[in-house]
Order: sequence, then structure tokens, then C-alpha cells
Amino acid sequence: MAATDIFDQIIKGDIPSYQVYEDADVLAFLDLNQATPGHTLVVPKKHVTDIFAYDDTLAAAVLTKLPKIARAIQKSDPAIIGMNIMINNGAAAGQSVFHSHIHLIPRYADDDLVLQTEASTPEHPITATEYATRAAKIIAQF
Ligand code: 5GP
Repeated sequence: MAATDIFDQIIKGDIPSYQVYEDADVLAFLDLNQATPGHTLVVPKKHVTDIFAYDDTLAAAVLTKLPKIARAIQKSDPAIIGMNIMINNGAAAGQSVFHSHIHLIPRYADDDLVLQTEASTPEHPITATEYATRAAKIIAQF
């Protein structure tokens, strides 16, 4: 895919953002829509659409940065008592910008955040055989 999405433009500096961390592999900046104060996006500088497109090298380069970025956000405000770290991977999962990114969403005792999931009823119960069949189908793909 051509490097023309909004996050490519932010990485290039063509669109302004409130950057909180940068190195050779990633850029982290505040989400335009702050789900809670400090809501940050961690974005690989390499253009990849979603996590399905990561190879091991890119995964190591990007995911290894998460703990220190998360810690810096946490330390920035003593009121932060937790953090949702999430990826909306693919349109069906709620992805709206098709340049891979990871949401770091600080949680506060008094926040009203409700993270939406479409599934309201967990798929229960399933049999041991069904679990085993599902696991085996995934294992066969490695
Ligand atoms: P997604 O729904 O793809 O998981 O999340 C995309 C996120 O990108 C949204 O939370 C949205 O607020 C954020 N976003 C979209 N455009 C911009 C922008 O131009 N600047 C910044 N900082 N965030 C953006």
C-alpha cells in the first residue's frame, strides 16, 4: 500500500501531533480523541496495515517499546491506576486507520470509560472437544 495514510503523514511531520516518544522504529503520540487523559498511539514507522503484516523483526522492534512508553505515561500522572493496551486489528475489529497502531489508554479511578465490544454474550458453554479442535486448527498454522 502506498505511504499516504494519516499516520504516515504524522511520521513525516506533514501533519502535527503531540509526540511523546520517538526512535528509529516507532513514533508515539497522543490520540486526537483522548479516550482518557494521556491516551497514546504507538505506531511503527514502517508502513504496515495491521499486525498480520508484522514479521518477527518488526514485532520485536515495536512491541519491545511498549513497556517503557506505558511506564512513562503511568509516571506522568499519579492518578493513573491501570492501562488498557489494545489493537483494533482489521475493520471488523474497529480499526479505522489502516496503519498499524497500538492504543495505550490510561485508566483512572473515576473515569467513565466503557470499552465497547460487540459480543455481549460469551460463547459458553462449549465442549472439551470443541476447545481441542479450535486449538488444533490454530496450532497447525505455525
Ligand atoms: P483505530 O480505530 O484505527 O483503532 O484508531 C485510530 C485512532 O486514530 C482513533 O482513536 C483516532 O482518534 C486516531 N486518529 C485519527 N486521526 C488522527 C490524527 O490525525 N491525529 C491523531 N493524533 N490521532 C488520530
